[in-house]
Amino acid sequence: MNEKCSYPCFWEQRESPKKTKEHPDKLELICFDMDGVLIDIGSSWKFVHDYFHCTNNASVNAYLHGEISDEEFIRRDLALWKENGEFTTRETIENLFTSVELMQGAQSLFQFLKKRKIRTAIVSAGIDIVAQKIGTMLDIDTILANGFIVDSKNRLTGEGKLSVRLIQKDQAIYTLSKNKQIPLRNCAAVGNSCFDIPMFEVCGLGIAFNPADDCVKDAADYVIDNKNLENLIPILEKFCL
Ligand SMILES: [Mg+2]
Repeated sequence: MNEKCSYPCFWEQRESPKKTKEHPDKLELICFDMDGVLIDIGSSWKFVHDYFHCTNNASVNAYLHGEISDEEFIRRDLALWKENGEFTTRETIENLFTSVELMQGAQSLFQFLKKRKIRTAIVSAGIDIVAQKIGTMLDIDTILANGFIVDSKNRLTGEGKLSVRLIQKDQAIYTLSKNKQIPLRNCAAVGNSCFDIPMFEVCGLGIAFNPADDCVKDAADYVIDNKNLENLIPILEKFCL
């Protein structure tokens, strides 16, 4: 599996999947990764790092080797977002995403899901202010994403907000399934990277969308090898009553 993945050390952290899953008898909830799926930006965090002309390669490595926690990973990312030695503001980050566009076909897909009364969620380790914005645009029921804490002047404090652990997105699915009282088999997950594979494994249906690596294709029940979300509709129709 390692040679098929951009993050081979991710696999060192993982236990192999436990069960043979059942596909949905009635699809009730669909959980979307955001970066690279609902928006055509591979990583909302990296998008901000690029603006500040920095990279987080060292902390990605430390995180994926289990040397630092999710909280510390976010803290180290935020520490890079400084101007003249001071933390940047929420407004600066928001402005970077003012013109963020939805992935092609997103509106049609979400109209279809609404019509079928299928509930929707974003499960993203990306930035929550982007996820909220996309959630409003598409009228998504539940938004789970990560972010940062600001002070009374809306300046970042350097502390993060953690809702979704990048390498344990299955945990967010368990919580959603429990809170919404929807069996896991009637949940679907859509994602593009290896970090979405744990969601595929616990949901009744896993769909790789424009996957970044072969490992994502291998772990999915269906693969969409292009960037049009409308192509999910014929797949999802098979699991609607
Ligand atoms: Mg992604």
